Amino acid sequence: MKNQNKERQNQSLIPFFSPASKQSDLPLHNVASFVDEYKFLTNWYTIEYDGWTLPSIKEPHDWCGLWKTVGCLNEDAHKKLGKGRIIYVKQFQRSCYRAVCKICYLKWIARQSKKATRRIEKFSELSFKTSFHLILCVPSSQRNLPIKLLRKRMVQITKIAKMNGAAVVFHPFRFDRKVRRWYYFPHFHLIGFGDKRKLPMAYGKFGWFVKYSEERRSVFQTFCYLLSHCGVKKGSHSLTWIGSLSYSKLKLEKESDSTICPLCNDKLVPIYHEGEHSGIPPDEVFEGFVDSVDWYEVKTVPKSEWTKVERYEYAVEKELYNANSGISLN
Ligand SMILES: [Zn+2]
Ligand SMILES: [Zn+2]
Repeated sequence: MKNQNKERQNQSLIPFFSPASKQSDLPLHNVASFVDEYKFLTNWYTIEYDGWTLPSIKEPHDWCGLWKTVGCLNEDAHKKLGKGRIIYVKQFQRSCYRAVCKICYLKWIARQSKKATRRIEKFSELSFKTSFHLILCVPSSQRNLPIKLLRKRMVQITKIAKMNGAAVVFHPFRFDRKVRRWYYFPHFHLIGFGDKRKLPMAYGKFGWFVKYSEERRSVFQTFCYLLSHCGVKKGSHSLTWIGSLSYSKLKLEKESDSTICPLCNDKLVPIYHEGEHSGIPPDEVFEGFVDSVDWYEVKTVPKSEWTKVERYEYAVEKELYNANSGISLN
């Protein structure tokens, strides 16, 4: 019987990863190595200008990165919808999504880049244009001006260049390879749209250095890379939109709600598997439908309402836990 179950389970394991989450694996791996390399024996953690810092500099919460499993156990509803006795399972790592978090900055980058890429692709679709990457550098004589004013000039320059609009990522710092030091060198990266032939009209305006970047990376990869060492400041957005790509001008369809079951729309709840083998690899992102056998909802009953048996079971479990983790019981 058990073997039969296992077979059924393996057959009905239907993961579905969204293309974006698969696509994001490699660029994020590169981002992590990039950040590690540029943190090593540098002033990554301490460089600061007017409240702006680099990402990934603060300690995580104790739950950042912990694995969690949620799902929808409405097998009856799923069966009625003609899908068999299956349940929906989602396994993921908890995240605070803060750019400054040493663990979650990668999740922050992935989420931001995914959203930004969607926005760029939407405009591309509507305008039949291809996006390009532009870098606007502030001359040394203006580096002590307020960043707000620099941002204003940046927008003026894009107007002179007749750009339609863009995503803007502010980079306050630049890396000096010789001395392995980050230093204040404000510049803006733009992923946007316009007529490339008109760009030279903006060259040298306000004494700024405007550079068209021959980008070989995908839009998603470019955002991942740009956000890996962007400016981060409380109350300021690291990625903003200007012109026709601003939130008031370009409306996007809502993303699907990730807290409900894609089959029956019921709210997802914490679940666990109590069998030999769930078929889902531990410590890996998973999203999909599996056989309903041996899956249960995690019931969180307040301790004060526990029955005697539950109290006893908890005590035994706690002892076992302590014994396993080498904590002395005496
Ligand atoms: Zn975190
Ligand atoms: Zn469901």
